[in-house]
Amino acid sequence: MRDLVGGIEAGGTKIVCGVGTIGSAGLIDREEIPTSDNPEAVLEQVGSWLLDRESKHGKLAALGIASFGPVDLKTTSPQYGHITSTPKPRWTDTDIVGLVKKQFPDAAIGFDTDVNGAALGEHRYGAARGLNDFVYITMGTGIGAGGMSGGILLHGLVHPEMGHLLVPRIHGDEFAGSCKYHGACWEGLCSGPAIAARTGTAATDLPADSPVWNMIARYSAAAIANIIFTLSPERIIIGGSVRKGGKLGEAKFFESLRRETRKVLSDYIASSSLDVNGINSYITPPVLGNDAGIVGALVLAEDALRLNRR
Ligand code: ZN
Repeated sequence: MRDLVGGIEAGGTKIVCGVGTIGSAGLIDREEIPTSDNPEAVLEQVGSWLLDRESKHGKLAALGIASFGPVDLKTTSPQYGHITSTPKPRWTDTDIVGLVKKQFPDAAIGFDTDVNGAALGEHRYGAARGLNDFVYITMGTGIGAGGMSGGILLHGLVHPEMGHLLVPRIHGDEFAGSCKYHGACWEGLCSGPAIAARTGTAATDLPADSPVWNMIARYSAAAIANIIFTLSPERIIIGGSVRKGGKLGEAKFFESLRRETRKVLSDYIASSSLDVNGINSYITPPVLGNDAGIVGALVLAEDALRLNRR
């Protein structure tokens, strides 16, 4: 029998749980649980669902947790496995790995950021297959980015927080921004809540002719160009609900994102990936779509199991 693994993709609005087999991007079972303001109760619910799947499908050899953050990823730190200084009410200092471990004491547990999880999913099964240097961005409740440099997931001091990149203000734009920490950073200007605060309309319902779509594309292009200048990724994958472009649609939103990014780059970087044709596959939605994160969580589980068996 093949090993079963479980995944937990903890996001700001919902927690996606899934069960799959090692070496496959397909999910055997999947569930979504709202991220309430009671972390213990939510994680208890997540654990119960997974335990229930175990009784149905067989033992879970490992679990992968891909979580919103900031999180502590340093295995030597006493805070390892915690969500640390998150702006999400009541989730500050939540020991997410510890709480899951309580219900699954024997399982190997892999842990990383939600965006590194999604990056890992796309690396194994999606748009980043075969690439050693790429970035995965999510534009949704927040903006975050993960990815790989030299084939290794980006961690560093804590983990990258590219969603909080500072972008040049568009002339005449008076919106103060919605980031609690920086006001008008990229996330403060272009996340779902920022769009809702600016327009009074959810991003998913924002009309195709809203001038805000062009602003989102321009601000995001500035941030994406900074990422390209800094990390020189071979591809940029953009997931999350905002990237679907509301009533404008995903295809048109990506078109303007690519066009604006090329404007910022001004043909400075000599690569066919960034020319007028190359950019179409360079800035791309995830192949796994909304499942990038949960599939990535399963890959985290698989990798944790492999490390444990070594
Ligand atoms: Zn910020």
